[in-house]
Amino acid sequence: MEISLAVWVLFALGLGWLMGSGGFRRLVRRNSKGMPPGYAEGLNFLLNKQPDRAIDLLISMVEMDSETVETHLALGTLFRNQGEVERAIRIHENLIARPALKRGERFQALMNLGLDYQQAGLNDRAVEIFEQLVDESSNHRQPAVDSLLEVYQHEKEWQKALVVLQRWARSGDERTKRLSGHFYCEIAELQIAANDLRGATRSLRHAGTQVPYSPRYLWMQTRLARLRGKTRAALRWINLLIDNCPRHRELVLEELERCYLDGSGPRQFAEKLEQLVTDPQSPPLLVCQALETIERVSGREAAITALGDRATEDDLALVIRLKQSLLLAADKGAEEEVNFYLLLREAYQSLAEQLGGYHCTHCGFEAREYFWRCPGCGEWDSLS
Ligand SMILES: [Zn+2]
Repeated sequence: MEISLAVWVLFALGLGWLMGSGGFRRLVRRNSKGMPPGYAEGLNFLLNKQPDRAIDLLISMVEMDSETVETHLALGTLFRNQGEVERAIRIHENLIARPALKRGERFQALMNLGLDYQQAGLNDRAVEIFEQLVDESSNHRQPAVDSLLEVYQHEKEWQKALVVLQRWARSGDERTKRLSGHFYCEIAELQIAANDLRGATRSLRHAGTQVPYSPRYLWMQTRLARLRGKTRAALRWINLLIDNCPRHRELVLEELERCYLDGSGPRQFAEKLEQLVTDPQSPPLLVCQALETIERVSGREAAITALGDRATEDDLALVIRLKQSLLLAADKGAEEEVNFYLLLREAYQSLAEQLGGYHCTHCGFEAREYFWRCPGCGEWDSLS
């Protein structure tokens, strides 16, 4: 046969069936001589938008060789990708029921059936298949491990996901460490919600062995220390976060206020805020929030000074111009200075609004609040 049947079917579904191309029907009619009996008929059913009759015919075929297996698999995958998962399941279950199937083909059909079940939400069945593949097929181990992790993350079964990582993932690998860190943090979140602070401490200790400087780990240590009444420790953790993860600074302001006001007091808090406003690495959203807090805690004059000291690296011409105006205004008298300060703060606010919100660098999902795991695609740390 000149062209494999799988290619025929792909071509038929992709071009002919979906777009209703009459030209392809003629092509099939001309080239159907070399096909096994029933195949041309099956393709015609597909072309005539009768997929169930085509599947019935495929399933009823007695002869199975590697090429017909390949066609089953290609067709099953196509149905699954089109969301027609029940049809995909019928095809793959039929394949697996064939006693003549070779070992490798059987594993391939099983992997596909597992993916069908997963897509259909039949997670128990999917897990059973993926576990079997992890144990029995070295070729399918990695995709089966990835699929198991996907199912467990979807079901928020963090402990089970950790077991999969510990058993099958390469330890020391960056991705394994990052995932483990998040899974331990997820467990700690649940423990904090259940007021099991000791359990949360244990979980975070594990997370720390994997990702000692990840923003989430430092953030959770801060919260846990404060919940346990250890204010000085909380301050140490939050300062580690501020120093190591400038991109995540805007998440910390409320917590920072609680930590300082519980501990060293409002003066130190104001100093810390002024330092954050001045630091060019602090994002505009943080600058806005910090300015408001400085005004509230130490008065407007302190906010004017802090903003005046900020080393401008923001690429907004308006902000730079306003800042220059502010410096000039400093010589002209208090009222003008205040007016320029208000203008400048407004400019920062509009910059923060322009940059406001987060989007997933993996799938483009947009969110107003920050998520450690993208709700759109399930990727970790992909929001920026
Ligand atoms: Zn995403």
